[in-house]
Amino acid sequence: PNPPKPITSGKDPRFAPTLYAHVGQPDSWTLAYYRRNGGYEAVKRAFGMGADAVIDEVKKSGLRGRGGAGFATGLKWSFMPLNDGKPHYIICNADESEPGSFKDRYLLSEDPHQLIEGMLIGGYAMRASVGYIYIRGEYVHAAERIQAAIEEAREAGLLGKNVLNSGFDFQLYLHRGAGAYICGEETALMNSLEGLRANPRLKPPFPAAAGLYGLPTTINNVETFCAATQILKYGAEWHAEMGTEKSKGMKLFQVSGPVARPGVYELPLGTTFRELIYDWAGGPLEEMKAIIPGGSSCPMLRWDDRVLDTPMDYESVAAAGSMLGTGGVTVIPKADCIVNATWNMVRFYGHESCGKCTPCREGISSWMTRMYEKLVRGHGQPGDVQLILDMSENIGGRSFCALADACLGPVLSSIALFREEYDSLAQFQTPTYPPRNRWKDA
Ligand code: NAD
Repeated sequence: PNPPKPITSGKDPRFAPTLYAHVGQPDSWTLAYYRRNGGYEAVKRAFGMGADAVIDEVKKSGLRGRGGAGFATGLKWSFMPLNDGKPHYIICNADESEPGSFKDRYLLSEDPHQLIEGMLIGGYAMRASVGYIYIRGEYVHAAERIQAAIEEAREAGLLGKNVLNSGFDFQLYLHRGAGAYICGEETALMNSLEGLRANPRLKPPFPAAAGLYGLPTTINNVETFCAATQILKYGAEWHAEMGTEKSKGMKLFQVSGPVARPGVYELPLGTTFRELIYDWAGGPLEEMKAIIPGGSSCPMLRWDDRVLDTPMDYESVAAAGSMLGTGGVTVIPKADCIVNATWNMVRFYGHESCGKCTPCREGISSWMTRMYEKLVRGHGQPGDVQLILDMSENIGGRSFCALADACLGPVLSSIALFREEYDSLAQFQTPTYPPRNRWKDA
């Protein structure tokens, strides 16, 4: 098919979304609609190329993991052993739970076949004959759509034995989580799939060496698999022309907070925050003071010209002092209390900690949550902010998985940027009463 024209800027009139091209169209989730619009042609192309060439194509495209970390997808796929004779697994991480992130949700519910096709391509490339989609329990509607799409695909010979007469067998299963953020951590997710408690595992070994049931496994985000479908459809060169030198392709950015049109926008990597917030999301509705670039785990940045003109690619956002993460942009108004806003995030991480390691269980779930509560409820005392900083030093880098460090993102950045707000809440003096003189009072 003719590729949509590559673009370098969201303002470019040739802007052509592919991942979200069919979101919102009537019946976009059905196989008939998908096939009418060129569906399952990419996987045929993959079968024609051969498995190794598919991995090379993904490498050449420059695709990086869209779950948040931005790890090179082609490289990750190439970590899977080739002829080890063992069963291989692929997993789609659809446990989208990062606060401020809601891009996968519509891919799942509106275009499930795009994901299934991406998983077929990934499964074929990585010699995996079984795939799992692990979806967060709260996505009930999306889960129903995915399940229906899997059944449709199975009936049409797109899943099961000898897919499209290629000789490749691929089974795909949907697994619903029960609503825990930690299940999005890849090793906790695998424990959960195995029926165990969702505690993270130590890495390394990485999943390609020892993953689900101890066998070679690759986990990718929903958007990553969907991007693979588009790459196999239109070619690696098409993908590599969009974005910046090191961050290629289109990305689903999300905007939440008081802006005119909050939502999901498919734009090339390297689009600036200003373009996303003003040109696409309609601009802020009130004066702002901070911006979270990629989901709550990413340190917040000050709302100023320097930050607004930062291109949203992995390198530039890192240079500005944060992370691109999931591309879930949250804006924080000037009128909001930053300590209260951060407490909201701290409570979330405290609640979601699995409790396996002490720095996270005692540090985040207990101490950090209570310190914030003390400040916000008006009992903050001089020295409390320093205590939070000291605690953070003992938590950071010392927990088993990334959850505790993720919580420190908003904590440390908000203190660094808005220390005066914290200090104003840390002034409560414990009242001292003179000892009563019983005899005199009498
Ligand atoms: P990570 O950098 O540890 O790993 C990213 C991926 O690369 C993993 O699949 C990992 O196995 C692989 N990898 C990394 N180094 C490797 C190596 N040396 N060899 C082989 N494979 C390797 O990051 P993570 O802890 O998986 O994810 C953190 C990110 O997740 C954060 O940036 C955060 O923004 C994001 N996040 C997203 C959500 C969501 O809902 N989408 C939720 C929470 C966090």
